[in-house]
Amino acid sequence: MKKLSLIVIGFVALVFTGSVFTYPHVFFLSTIERSDFNKISKNIYIDPDFEKSEYESVLSLLDTSKARIINEYGAFTARPVVVITRTPENAKKYGLGTFPGKAFAAPWEQYIVVNHQSNDIDLLTHELMHAQMREILGYWAYQTKIPTWFDEGVAMQVDYRDHYKVDYESFSQEEIKRVKDLDTPSKFWTKRGKPKKLPSRKSSGPTNTHSSPT
Ligand SMILES: [Zn+2]
Repeated sequence: MKKLSLIVIGFVALVFTGSVFTYPHVFFLSTIERSDFNKISKNIYIDPDFEKSEYESVLSLLDTSKARIINEYGAFTARPVVVITRTPENAKKYGLGTFPGKAFAAPWEQYIVVNHQSNDIDLLTHELMHAQMREILGYWAYQTKIPTWFDEGVAMQVDYRDHYKVDYESFSQEEIKRVKDLDTPSKFWTKRGKPKKLPSRKSSGPTNTHSSPT
């Protein structure tokens, strides 16, 4: 049992050092507490570029996002570390690249990074939904068993942005098969953070299973 524990610890250490080496943002995220970001609530860190008077609206946005997930799926139990960046430098430093938001699942923690240029409730809710998926499934199952199309599909149900409004009912079998092949992030996403090949929208008929957010 002791030997097994050592192997597990060794493996996690390897993953950790490997990740830090390959992805510096993993290091920056795991040391966010010691950065110049301001902690505005438990697990919530915000770019020093924000004025104090803006904190309340960010916290309120987070509450609204969680409420949307609870409304759609019945619960929100994840407790990710949320990092809100504002400058392009910090967006890059914390791993966003050209994406407006990302969810990072590490074995020891999960992180949501959102570049907050506007009060984008859809973006924030989308990323929080990924954290909830990881919370429900656990790290290993989330990383190894869930194809990207499914993970993104679940997040899309609480993300009402236009490019996710697709007419599910009109999907042909061919389209369903094609979407099911988008099982890794590199197949699913373009480099600019847009889904590559979701079925196109119809100009008439139902466009979404949701009503518009209000
Ligand atoms: Zn996503």
